[in-house]
Amino acid sequence: MSLNRRTFLTGAAGATAAAIGLRGTASAAERPDGVVVTPADALEHLQRGNTRYANGNVQRKTYAPPGQSPEAGQWPFAAILSCSDSRVVPEDLFDVAGKNLFIVRNAGNLVDDVTMGSLEYAAVHTGISLIMVLGHTNCGAVDATQGSLATGQMPGPFVNSIVEAITPALTPLPAGYTLNDAIAANARYQSEQIQNLSPTLAAKTAAGTIGIVKGVYGLSNRRVTFLP
Ligand SMILES: [Zn+2]
Repeated sequence: MSLNRRTFLTGAAGATAAAIGLRGTASAAERPDGVVVTPADALEHLQRGNTRYANGNVQRKTYAPPGQSPEAGQWPFAAILSCSDSRVVPEDLFDVAGKNLFIVRNAGNLVDDVTMGSLEYAAVHTGISLIMVLGHTNCGAVDATQGSLATGQMPGPFVNSIVEAITPALTPLPAGYTLNDAIAANARYQSEQIQNLSPTLAAKTAAGTIGIVKGVYGLSNRRVTFLP
């Protein structure tokens, strides 16, 4: 399928693959089941699924091969790094059945060593073709970081590690930035970290077998805005 055709299809969800900086649309990752899913395919699954979810047309689609026992392997088409926030449920908001997404969650959808190990594992051993960093509106972790930067007060022992991981995303922002500005900046920063920290993932994105995208889920309108 040509990129033009792909662009037309994804345009319905409001953001084309090219517009959000997705590279690697020409090559493809081959999954353990032999099914070829390109980064653009995976993005389209997510975008179309979120549109169905936002419109109340939930179908719980599956892209995993039918009839496979769990012991035979796993066939997620994308990895999602999302916040632990209980209101952000990737399978729900992308309208896919279980076993379709490899999900890494922590407060603030931030990158640390364990997150990177999880994503590298997914990229090497499960055949995913897309990694998405998914922030969300009203994120408490980003709000806490914004508050700490404003007051100079740190929240407490282990929460400090969350604030410290998000702080570099917020410090370049101009004075007077909003929480939504900070949430988008954090999603962008963490996605850049994935690319910068992992030679394995950088090589796969350069080869076009994996794409990395980022976005923000709106709690009020149920829609994911994919960020350029
Ligand atoms: Zn959050």
